[in-house]
Amino acid sequence: MIRIPSSKCIYSMNPKNPPVTEVDPGETVVFETKDCFSNRIQTERDLFANVGWATINPATGPVAIRGAQPGDVLAAKILDIKVSEKGYMVAVPKMGALGHIITHSQTKIMPIIDGYAMFNDRIRLPISPMIGVIGTAPKTEDIPNGTPGAHGGNMDTRLITEGTNLYLPVFVEGANLAVGDLHAVMADGEVVICGIESPGEVIIQVNIVKGKTLTSPVLETEDNFYCIASAESLDKAAASSLDYTAEFLKTRLPLSINEIAMLMSLVCNLQISQIVDPLKTVRVEIPKRAFERYQLRF
Ligand code: CA
Ligand code: CA
Repeated sequence: MIRIPSSKCIYSMNPKNPPVTEVDPGETVVFETKDCFSNRIQTERDLFANVGWATINPATGPVAIRGAQPGDVLAAKILDIKVSEKGYMVAVPKMGALGHIITHSQTKIMPIIDGYAMFNDRIRLPISPMIGVIGTAPKTEDIPNGTPGAHGGNMDTRLITEGTNLYLPVFVEGANLAVGDLHAVMADGEVVICGIESPGEVIIQVNIVKGKTLTSPVLETEDNFYCIASAESLDKAAASSLDYTAEFLKTRLPLSINEIAMLMSLVCNLQISQIVDPLKTVRVEIPKRAFERYQLRF
């Protein structure tokens, strides 16, 4: 098992970032991660303004996978996510979907004890650690880690958690996977621009899938697939994720496009991941059970 320290990190996903190491398909990698504030918030006196945008959203890596070529798919099997014993949140005026009602900047630190984040002495929240930022290098662009896209990035999708398989398009040789921005707790929407942010570590088994096309990330859980898309508006993100879903089903099922569209209207729930990054991310849920007899697979 290869371990990548959190000091080996990038702030944008870019084809020019040199890989910190190269691994074989099937290998397991431990990514130690800083929190989204680069661990620069330590007390409630440290406000978001003191952190600075230049060091927001570090992602550990990138890790190259031997043999990955543009047009392949990277399969990241998330085996484990550990967050630390403390989580951090901020509320900042004019930021996020509720910035208009927030009048002063605040940092909140929450102990994480026995699987619960202690919001206050009456509210404790069961943690469900998830990955905010996970992506491959884009083909030519330099995409800040705060932005989601076809390469993954800051998707802030709370279902990207232990036990799931994330499929990402490969745009450059080696794929160049980077991971960061863990949340102990986050709700769909991520309305104040953060979840309970925490440093930690993620264990991922990487694999390469040849001969399948992918234009945007797909997540597989035990029960469902999710086609994920990000865009400037929720309307555009919804339209793209529905198109990707239709394509995903069309290439895997012997059904007409009309039947696929009907089934999408019957069983595929359209869900919001986040609305603040500043692109919006949505996902379409494809229940495996509905397609059981067809043995729907990635
Ligand atoms: Ca994030
Ligand atoms: Ca975050």
